[in-house]
Amino acid sequence: MMNRRQLVGLAGAAGAALLAGVPKALAAPFDLIIRNGRVVDPSVGLDGVRDVAIAGGRIVAVEANIAGDAAETIDARGKIVAPGLIDIHTHAGRSKEGPSLLLQDGVTGWVDAGSGGADNIDQIAAVARGAPQIGRALVNISRKGVVSPGGELHDLNLANVALAQGAIARNRDVVVGVKARLSDNVADVNDLEALRRAQEAASPFGLPVMIHVGQNYSPLRAYLALLKRGDIVTHMYAPGKNGILDDKGILHPEVMAARRRGVIFDFGNGVADHFDWDTVEKATKQGLWPDTFSTDWNTQSKTTNVVDFPNVMSKFFMFGMPLAQVIACATVNAARVFPSFDDRGTLNVGAPGDVTILELREGSFEFLDNYKGTRTGGQRLFPSETVLAGRQVKRA
Ligand SMILES: [Zn+2]
Repeated sequence: MMNRRQLVGLAGAAGAALLAGVPKALAAPFDLIIRNGRVVDPSVGLDGVRDVAIAGGRIVAVEANIAGDAAETIDARGKIVAPGLIDIHTHAGRSKEGPSLLLQDGVTGWVDAGSGGADNIDQIAAVARGAPQIGRALVNISRKGVVSPGGELHDLNLANVALAQGAIARNRDVVVGVKARLSDNVADVNDLEALRRAQEAASPFGLPVMIHVGQNYSPLRAYLALLKRGDIVTHMYAPGKNGILDDKGILHPEVMAARRRGVIFDFGNGVADHFDWDTVEKATKQGLWPDTFSTDWNTQSKTTNVVDFPNVMSKFFMFGMPLAQVIACATVNAARVFPSFDDRGTLNVGAPGDVTILELREGSFEFLDNYKGTRTGGQRLFPSETVLAGRQVKRA
């Protein structure tokens, strides 16, 4: 039973609305509200049912039961609402259609990791500039970019510091680092000198270097000794000679030492030779987890053991990584690697309105490593909806 004061109040509000006579549509304060999802935003330690409101392309509220209208509403009941996913090792710059395909998988930010060197980075940069979402690139220290098969560093003359610096200088808006692929099928005996040149190219610009490791000619500790804070090791769980584990399966102490001084370890799923289950299991049991996940994606990835970024993320549930940490590796941790992504990987008020909605299904899911090894997990994240700058991306 309402008391008299409440009745008066209601009558007053109704009267004010009548007097104002504002059409309801004009009153909608938000462009988009994502309602009732389980918001998992590790950047602020949030895991709970909330609404997310976006206006002017930016997050404006993350609260329970947001009042008010929106031009568009997404019902995310039963789904996970996460910051837009950021994939720091892709080859999305190789083709115009790459970035849009990634968007379908929930990837609202990507880095092309070394597809292009000094001779061909300009095409990669053009794709990045034309992409619907933020795209950045690492310039390969080999002027030819990735040469596969064959390898771009067997001829050391291709690792030309002056040319790489020129490529960075003319693409400062896109190039955020230097890539060196050091595995023996790419660099062989030239690995250490190629890495020195990559550092020399990056140094005047203050940029990080990402190294691709696996089946290396030189011991990994020799690479790690040449890495500075903020540099990235991708394909961290590559098995075979001169990897992270010794012959007895023990983690080399230099790996954890490198992490302690700020070297970043990236998963880098890929297709061949980049990880096997045994190495992941042994390393994670000794405490070496990825800082970031990445797919090493290309336009063919759907048909490989990558499938999509949420599938790659899901592989770590099997090793006991909690959901919030899985999301962190694909959002806030990735955003911290490159300053271009500083305001991303979060649903903080004021951040760009990039949101990935995922379905976490329970069941029996088969996952593959790079050696046709299968493991069965009980959970798999599936891409559901992608929101870019406050707009829902149309499903393909
Ligand atoms: Zn790659």
